[in-house]
Amino acid sequence: MNFLQKNILEEKDNRYIWHPFTQMKDRTGERPLIIEEGRGSFLKDIYGRWYLDGVSSLWVNVHGHRKKEIDEAIKKQLDKIGHSTLLGLSNPPAIELAERLISLVNSSLSNPHLPTDNPPIPPLEKGGEGGFEKGGLSKVFYSDNGSTAVEIALKIAFQYWQYKGKMEKTKFLSLTNGYHGDTLGAVGVGGISLFHEIYGPIIIPSIKAPSPYCYRCELGLTHPSCVMECAKELEGVISKRNHEIAALIIEPMVQAAAGILISPPGYLKEARRVCTENNILMIADEVATGFGRTGKMFACENEDVRPDIIALAKGITGGYLPLAATLTTEEIFNVFLGEYQEFKTFFHGHTYTGNPLACAAALASLEIFEKDKTIESLQGKISSLEDKLKPFTELSHVGEVRQKGFMVGIELVKDKKTKKPYPLEDKMGIKVILKAREKGLIIRPLGNVIVIMPPLSISLEELDKMVEMVHRAIKEVTE
Ligand SMILES: *Cc1c(COP(=O)(O)O)cnc(C)c1O
Repeated sequence: MNFLQKNILEEKDNRYIWHPFTQMKDRTGERPLIIEEGRGSFLKDIYGRWYLDGVSSLWVNVHGHRKKEIDEAIKKQLDKIGHSTLLGLSNPPAIELAERLISLVNSSLSNPHLPTDNPPIPPLEKGGEGGFEKGGLSKVFYSDNGSTAVEIALKIAFQYWQYKGKMEKTKFLSLTNGYHGDTLGAVGVGGISLFHEIYGPIIIPSIKAPSPYCYRCELGLTHPSCVMECAKELEGVISKRNHEIAALIIEPMVQAAAGILISPPGYLKEARRVCTENNILMIADEVATGFGRTGKMFACENEDVRPDIIALAKGITGGYLPLAATLTTEEIFNVFLGEYQEFKTFFHGHTYTGNPLACAAALASLEIFEKDKTIESLQGKISSLEDKLKPFTELSHVGEVRQKGFMVGIELVKDKKTKKPYPLEDKMGIKVILKAREKGLIIRPLGNVIVIMPPLSISLEELDKMVEMVHRAIKEVTE
């Protein structure tokens, strides 16, 4: 591509593409950054400039770009078939991956908590070595993105109670500041007013409980003297309305899209206890937190919590191809079984469900987790990151630095004392990330929160560089 052709490409981007979560008016005349190549923790634009990938290509990349084993697994699968369907047929990678996911989830989340009137199921006849245990998650329903994984979880939870004869259980409980995707069902359980409010008239609203966001506590309290009043409020809502609630949907440990809001210790476990005692299902939306992001394979592990349904996507293929999985217990699955003419079928399925290329990539990614001991070698990087983030709190416009594993949110404020936020029209977050880009780092803000979400495979040296660039960018823009 010569210089002119690159220019034409930029112009065509402006002319033809409507970018997600983007005010397109701002972009007229702006040079789009076009990424052509990637390697390890780096991305290369069409002009040959390399950047560190500070958001893992929107929270999906795990082992780095152009990871040999994943590249090869996809190529190998491509030599057999690109796509066939799971509607009425099956394919080897989808089958192998389902077994692997179930085994992984059950060995990671080994603590069963079933709603009280759902006795644990007897162990499977042939459990294999997957650690299938009483009440473990045992069925995989595939789709192709996080939002659909959530839609599937919601529909399954609702339909489960219908078949159990609890016809009144038609509502969902979700948290303020929650994010579960952009399709209408997922928006209904969303709680970020900036994204979700306008769709009010066309969504099914959910019951809300307060966000466990300590820096700006909705209840006006301070942690830990509040003794987790937000969890008590959650219990209050649930115990009052459990007859009409099918499930709680929650982002375990980290409300990511709202600005990497980290739940206080014990909150998730409390939520599990309250769901169990009040006989409502717990849906863990691990779309962002799954596959190592919080320092554990799944965020629920942090508090030894096992959900009834789990939604997985983003990191599942190592960040290569669109794939998602919704896992449920045998107990839930069994309720859908019946004679053909009863039509208890789960009437849901996306065209590319269980795509063999994506499943092959996911299998390769899980193998790397094992072979490279990804989670183990991550621990040192997490503590190093923690150290490197300490100086940020001294910056005059950093209100709070939040970190859970490899998820970091740095909240910028106009006034540190009063916690007064920058008005969104100041575009402080955007200014900071553009400054970082000049330095060779690609990140993306969430409003006034600067997010750092590196590939798990990043080296200590690259991590150092990344954090330093963020520090300098914030300092230069805000001071
Ligand atoms: C990103 C995300 C989703 C939506 O996933 P998509 O693949 O973008 O549809 C759902 N839930 C959580 C927690 C997410 O972070």
